Amino acid sequence: MKQTPPRLSLAALQASLLQSRSSADIDEGAAPTQRDLAETLSFSPGDGRIWMNDQRMLLWRSSTYGSLRRELIASLGQEQARSLLTRVGYAAGARDAELVRRMWPDSDPANAFHAGPSLHRLEGMVRPETIRFEFDIARGDFFADYWWHDSSEDDEHMAAFGIGTEPACWMQVGYASGYASAFMGKLIIYRETACRSMGAEACRITGRPADQWEDPELDLHYFLPEASAPRVRGFSAGASLSSTGAPKAPAAAALGLGADAPEPIGISASFSAACHLIQRVAPTQATVLFTGASGVGKELFAQTLHRISPRAQRPFVAINCAAIPETLIESELFGVERGAFTGATVSRPGRFERAHEGTLFLDEVASLSYVAQGKLLRALQERTVERVGGTRAIAVNVRVLAASNVDLREEVRAGRFREDLMFRLNVFPIALPPLKERRDDIPLLMEHFLQRYVALHQREVPGFTARAVQALLRYDFPGNIRELQNLVERGVIMVEPGEPIDVHHLFRGGELLSHEALGLDESGQLTQVPPTGPEPARRARRSAPGAPGKASAADADRGAAAELQRYRKAWVAARHNVAEAARALGLSRAQLAYRLKRGGLL
Ligand code: ZN
Repeated sequence: MKQTPPRLSLAALQASLLQSRSSADIDEGAAPTQRDLAETLSFSPGDGRIWMNDQRMLLWRSSTYGSLRRELIASLGQEQARSLLTRVGYAAGARDAELVRRMWPDSDPANAFHAGPSLHRLEGMVRPETIRFEFDIARGDFFADYWWHDSSEDDEHMAAFGIGTEPACWMQVGYASGYASAFMGKLIIYRETACRSMGAEACRITGRPADQWEDPELDLHYFLPEASAPRVRGFSAGASLSSTGAPKAPAAAALGLGADAPEPIGISASFSAACHLIQRVAPTQATVLFTGASGVGKELFAQTLHRISPRAQRPFVAINCAAIPETLIESELFGVERGAFTGATVSRPGRFERAHEGTLFLDEVASLSYVAQGKLLRALQERTVERVGGTRAIAVNVRVLAASNVDLREEVRAGRFREDLMFRLNVFPIALPPLKERRDDIPLLMEHFLQRYVALHQREVPGFTARAVQALLRYDFPGNIRELQNLVERGVIMVEPGEPIDVHHLFRGGELLSHEALGLDESGQLTQVPPTGPEPARRARRSAPGAPGKASAADADRGAAAELQRYRKAWVAARHNVAEAARALGLSRAQLAYRLKRGGLL
């Protein structure tokens, strides 16, 4: 079984090297607290999504899980079903460990570990009660002992099968094992030694490293992977998740980073559908028409199609028809003979000739003039081009890919586009979805662009704050992927080195943070989350320049922004421990918490 090395931050690693930690070291007031964890949840009913930080969540009935579980047992048999659910739980636990590690890289290891059972409780699975845990990451020692109260899995198991002789908290045990294994960087196996499904009042679980159980094979075979479901991704071959589904840098695996050329990135259903079409059409000679709004990545898809086509070793030539003046487009496409017009002092080939035996990508094809459309049609039909000012027909073997961000049929109806050319191009249309319709890809894209710009600008940026993630997940992205890319690059440049990118590093140009969202308040009730825009920016809009009598308000805003900046710095310096930051500032915890919250930081 492959194991993932722990990816602890240096600070946490040093802390863990200095001492082993135990349940006695849990600091209830230190991050991540139950409230910190609850705040990673946000409900976005407008677009049908629930998020835990950047992971999409589902709210479904426990009884629905019960039905699924029953069906699995009926169709696979108890052992297979148990094995499958244990591994599914394992992957979920490992994901949660990854979330905690990413969001609170500097928290005390005892608190970071304790976040696992807290998340398990937050997700409504079970109510863990710590009896004892102790671990030493450097030495690889681990021991944990918990009571589990009111396990949802037991409820469902007992409703279906009554009291039996075997423990039944399979997915939960998988979860605890996955969390602890990802946290420790070695396989930790939990065993349920008492279970409500066996008549006990509460379940009890004990966890140890696999090599410290006397009879690990009793549990081990439930963890052993069969074929793990491949993650749908772009076109990179060979990238895969580790067999346990443990978090082996999931973003990087799905991205195929390190490939020479950039490639489309995503896991969403609509993205996968477009990838499927490209894979179908690539081996043929068919003309492909990409449609979709600006910034959805049409050229990237076209390049990818070329790269996986039989013409991959031949040139890929792209031309943006909208970027070239109408008077020059013909000579650009078809070439020019010397003396054809003033300034044409040498003969030169056009893009068609340069793409010979390769692929020609015509972006924004709808912006071609009617005359140019006619010449393009002739080139496509006769497979020859004639240079401007020339008389010779030059044979070209070119596969044409075209793209348009307007509906060509509409353009035909409006008399702006030739119908015969439209039919010639529209052999195999592929519609690329706007980013707001593939929100599930936003986290992958964020991570991808972050890595790209951190490398390009040589900055040290650990990631995004929870608020920034939620703002990006809620944003509408009128400029699509290109806009997300710009926002992330701006964030990488704006942020102080070593700090995570926050909302005000991303959004500065008055982008609207629309989309209402709901989060959990301290009492666990759903409540409206305020717009994520930074408070100073919101105030600045209210006191727009030129508004009479607002000068003093603007000054006050600047003062407030500077003050907020001071609080934020102390808070970051205290590793997001509000109490510690408050002490450093000479404020009470409540005062600082209030002010950070008012500033939209907490
Ligand atoms: Zn149980």
